[in-house]
Amino acid sequence: MKISVALLALVGTAEAFQAAKPTNRRISTSLNILVGDKLSKGKMAKEDVAFDKLVKSSFPGAISNKELAIRVRDVLDGKGFTPKNTLLATSVCADELARELEDEFVAIYGTNFNLGGLAGFPFAGNTGWGAMSAHVPDNGYCLTIHGPHVGITKDGLIGKVERSGIALVDSCCGSAIAASNYLKGITEGTATINPRIQSFSDFQQGAVQELILPFGKRLAKAEDRMKELPYALYDSQEVLVNDIVNTGKASIKKGLAVLGGIQINTSPDTFDYFHPLRFDYYDENGDLVENMLPYLK
Ligand SMILES: [Zn+2]
Repeated sequence: MKISVALLALVGTAEAFQAAKPTNRRISTSLNILVGDKLSKGKMAKEDVAFDKLVKSSFPGAISNKELAIRVRDVLDGKGFTPKNTLLATSVCADELARELEDEFVAIYGTNFNLGGLAGFPFAGNTGWGAMSAHVPDNGYCLTIHGPHVGITKDGLIGKVERSGIALVDSCCGSAIAASNYLKGITEGTATINPRIQSFSDFQQGAVQELILPFGKRLAKAEDRMKELPYALYDSQEVLVNDIVNTGKASIKKGLAVLGGIQINTSPDTFDYFHPLRFDYYDENGDLVENMLPYLK
């Protein structure tokens, strides 16, 4: 379990240290700021039966992040994963909304190693994976979670989301939508020449735009381009994640679980969701030995 220095200073006692978790501990300071309030909306969001139905009809197979975390924890508990012997690694978007999923799992396994970047692609690559796997506790396990994200508004519009403190209903995922628009320009023949192509100061977005290229036809034919977009990006990301895992699998310690899917972000006062698309278990030899996805359905 890991904890920030600031939180430690506020907690004080050894007993409190044992109990403290980033998302489930709320401490009142002299400024009446509740530490932890901004870490996750999980506790503030309320169950909304009608909205739950709406999300699940738009994304069949989606479950709330809370439900997901419980099911994953229970399955992995049976395999010997514990908060002490497990390192959490994630590859999700830079967007603060993508932290919602991380927060659910950080509350169980402690602070994560970040492998991801824009749109959720694993930009830390082979070197990041190598460093991460070296940090897995001796004789311990790794849980890797990866995937793109997509917003859905309260009235069911996909590709947009209400954000806290912002009046405008904003795009989500902004990077994915920008890449989708770039691709649309190519398939429709309206793209303009970009003199700054592959500029270092925006290299992640340049890579997202490159990695989305094979899906021009698929997205053009989609009934709802914004709904198809995260699934297309997932297919691209899965190839990269598999490549990184297979290259680095000699460094797996006791075992590795890889959870992949689509993160579905919603308004600040409703639960977020996840559509799991893979939940694989690799043994200590780096062999993929079990498909655990049925446990999440
Ligand atoms: Zn994003």
